[in-house]
Amino acid sequence: MLRKLIQRLTPTKKGHHKKTMPSGPQIIPRDQHCISRNNISESALKVLYRLKNAGFEAYLVGGGVRDLLLDGHPKDFDIATSAHPEEVNALFRNSRLIGRRFRLVHVLFGREMIEVATFRAAPQEPGHAQHQQSETGQLLKDNVYGNLDEDALRRDFTINALYYSIEDFTVRDFANGLDDLEKRQIQLIGDPESRYREDPVRMLRAIRFAAKLNFDIAAETAAPIHKLGNLLDHIPNARLFDESQKIFTSGYAEASWNLLQHYNLATHLFPFIPSPPGEHATQLIIQAMRNTDERIQAGKHIAPSFLFAVLLWHPVREEMEKLQDQGLPPMQALQKAAHCIIEQQIQRIAVPRRFTIAMREMWDLQFKLARRNGNRAERLYSHPRFRAAYDFLLLREQSGEIEPGLGEWWTTYQEADETERQKMVTELAPHAPGRKKRRRRPKTKPSNPQD
Ligand code: ATP
Ligand code: MG
Repeated sequence: MLRKLIQRLTPTKKGHHKKTMPSGPQIIPRDQHCISRNNISESALKVLYRLKNAGFEAYLVGGGVRDLLLDGHPKDFDIATSAHPEEVNALFRNSRLIGRRFRLVHVLFGREMIEVATFRAAPQEPGHAQHQQSETGQLLKDNVYGNLDEDALRRDFTINALYYSIEDFTVRDFANGLDDLEKRQIQLIGDPESRYREDPVRMLRAIRFAAKLNFDIAAETAAPIHKLGNLLDHIPNARLFDESQKIFTSGYAEASWNLLQHYNLATHLFPFIPSPPGEHATQLIIQAMRNTDERIQAGKHIAPSFLFAVLLWHPVREEMEKLQDQGLPPMQALQKAAHCIIEQQIQRIAVPRRFTIAMREMWDLQFKLARRNGNRAERLYSHPRFRAAYDFLLLREQSGEIEPGLGEWWTTYQEADETERQKMVTELAPHAPGRKKRRRRPKTKPSNPQD
């Protein structure tokens, strides 16, 4: 569909595609593209029409256009308009102004949120109050409004600078985004290095889109990433949390993680994870991400804290072992190690407390799941975090970190009826792990956490 469209429209352009700022947009009429109002959410249409009827320009932009052209399902719909944020806010009672660095309006329709951004202008001379840059070139404020052409060139990638007009239903392509959709490549608009310096999160976005769309990152867009990773260290931890959530919970975590490793960016997000992580850690992380992706693609629920627990497990284990070597009993060592790793990790990525609580419970249960005697098994089974901890345990066994066995016991236990369960508990050999705490613990650390 897309191929035909581009061949029809740009027969002379083939082979010499412009990389940077073209002079005017390529305009694709309604009957030559596949975007139909039927595929656009009603809420987005409402916003577009109300803006238009109030005399403003209004376009659908970003993922909404890109993913529809690719025959996909947009995650959300973003709108670009000539109306200023306060004007948008005044038009919609169900809206709120957000952002300082980049002022936006969110219009809320139940659980759906439509993001409305005012056209941005090109960067201004230094000293402009609404356009501030840091020493590294990072844009601290980008609130100088402009027109549609200017807005297009402020966007990150060519494939994200496609606009669908509510006025005449055309698609406007300002940066050869259609060419790149066809070539299946992620390409920054403008000079890659300065665009990353303006906003280092674009490096993460390049990876996220490459993973999600299964596109390549164009060579010039990819090249600076290897050396600019440290710019991520200056990004506020709340923004990195939002971005990491998008990376891990959009159904393409595994591919994204591989790219994060490839471009050496993972270490800027998770300073405790060695690059590459050890063999068991790699197995654990990849398998957990694969499972998460499968669950998301099957429309199942995922616990967002799970992947953070997986990612930080080996660093926590290592810290715990160090503390045990210093003489701390295992559970105390675990508590302290968990606290220490989490406290430092949240400086980088602001993982909310409700997540870190869940992570600590999952870690705790890795040890407790071994102690099944008496009525402990039943109590553990009704723990709200049991399911996640059990999944985690299976993954650890699969990764080769620990001997398999305990996971299978719990699998059988869950499938068994009450009598069988009691039998399973009584049959636990007296020397089974966790059967009875020895009064005196040896000073040396246990060889595996089930001990
Ligand atoms: P998805 O919603 O599927 O994650 P998207 O492309 O819609 O993808 P959003 O984060 O919703 O991404 O942003 C909407 C649009 O805003 C983008 O397509 C892009 O044009 C622009 N944009 C977002 N973040 C940036 C950025 N950091 N720099 C430049 N432009 C950006
Ligand atoms: Mg979007």
